[in-house]
Amino acid sequence: MEKERHQAGPCPYDKQCGGCRYLHLSYEKQLEEKRRAVRELMQSHCRVHPVIGMEDPWHYRHKVVSAFGLDQKGVPVSGIYEENSHRIVPVEACAIEAREADAILKTIRTLLRPFKLRVYDEDSGRGLLRYVLIRSGCFTGQIMVVLVTASPVFPSKRNFTDALLKAHPEITTVLQNVNGRTDSLILGDRYQTLYGKGYIEDTLCGRRFRISPASFYQVNPVQAQKLYEKAVELAGLTGKETVVDAYCGTGTIGIVAAGRAGRVLGVESNPEAVRDAVANAKENGVRNIRFYRDDAGHFLKSCAADGQRVDVLFMDPPRAGSSPEFLEAAAQIRPSRIVYVSCSPETLERDVGILEKAGYWAREVWPVDMFPWTGSTEAVCLLEPKARPRKDSGKNGGGRNGGAEAKRDHAKGKGVH
Ligand code: SAH
Repeated sequence: MEKERHQAGPCPYDKQCGGCRYLHLSYEKQLEEKRRAVRELMQSHCRVHPVIGMEDPWHYRHKVVSAFGLDQKGVPVSGIYEENSHRIVPVEACAIEAREADAILKTIRTLLRPFKLRVYDEDSGRGLLRYVLIRSGCFTGQIMVVLVTASPVFPSKRNFTDALLKAHPEITTVLQNVNGRTDSLILGDRYQTLYGKGYIEDTLCGRRFRISPASFYQVNPVQAQKLYEKAVELAGLTGKETVVDAYCGTGTIGIVAAGRAGRVLGVESNPEAVRDAVANAKENGVRNIRFYRDDAGHFLKSCAADGQRVDVLFMDPPRAGSSPEFLEAAAQIRPSRIVYVSCSPETLERDVGILEKAGYWAREVWPVDMFPWTGSTEAVCLLEPKARPRKDSGKNGGGRNGGAEAKRDHAKGKGVH
């Protein structure tokens, strides 16, 4: 079995990469360990369920970045940066990355010489190819290859693309991205589509999603499906609710929830992701959703100021967690359920603590193993108001939603779509 093979022969890059922390454990033990870690943080707040694990926890990463550079002998290599350094560890095959990526990267390495394509040398700043980003649709099989170059001048790009497509007809789109910066960000701002549509699509929970090179999309779609299903289940939707999907990325959670809600407002700061979200709603025929390009805290604060009624608030912030402004506005709007999706149990705990002080209590936490073998754990937490405020108390001026019902259409018409 695949699983046993991996456990018998640990990863050859383990020490230098540092990405996988639990390779020495069985998968079951690893899930127990992850639950223990979440419990340590969250058990004083609420019940922590067993971790929702993955049936086949290998080759799940559908976003792969490989750095190109020279080794100590000046030979071009591609792989990962050694932990806390800028030395590239050449990687032939990774146990958690999508299999198709390894083969494509190998082909790109063999095409370097015939196309006289020089890899970028960080020390001298010379050479062209810096990174290759490969994103694949787990359920559609579509594949995107992004060639990240130090300069826009890539003389043989058409022929190079043709050769790559000849070796891998499964690739559905190829882009060039120009990144001339010296920091550690992978993608620059400029793109040129060399082949195909410039994006790929994937399906999740029966919906179709467009993924552009820089848009956030869960790297483990098999588990993302379980995560979203759990989040929507915890929201207890009946078809009437006004829902906010905060930090919505390409609109995934909101679009999945829309079929069971009255209407959905999605908010996201990355313009590319918002464009994808608008296209995704259209593609899926979802009409009761509207997306706003805004800072989630600023958006929620204006909802609170407008007396906007929100019944369910989904929030899925990045690792750093949410902002005081957002949490304060959430407590003021007082949705009957907050479903907090978190990729960092530490910031989840911090934010749950803030919401508890503001009148909520955490009911349950479901950890989901989105990143098997690594130290990361995703979790979804349900929060509910502690008790309904008395009519004469609170700044809302009475009523559970601060008399918002009369004004509930206030935010309509301001969205991107
Ligand atoms: N819910 C989505 C995306 C979650 S990732 C999904 O499951 O696919 C977090 C998202 O928050 C990213 O798309 C990021 O661009 C966005 N983001 C980060 N800071 C933000 C902020 N202050 N306001 C709004 N969106 C933000």
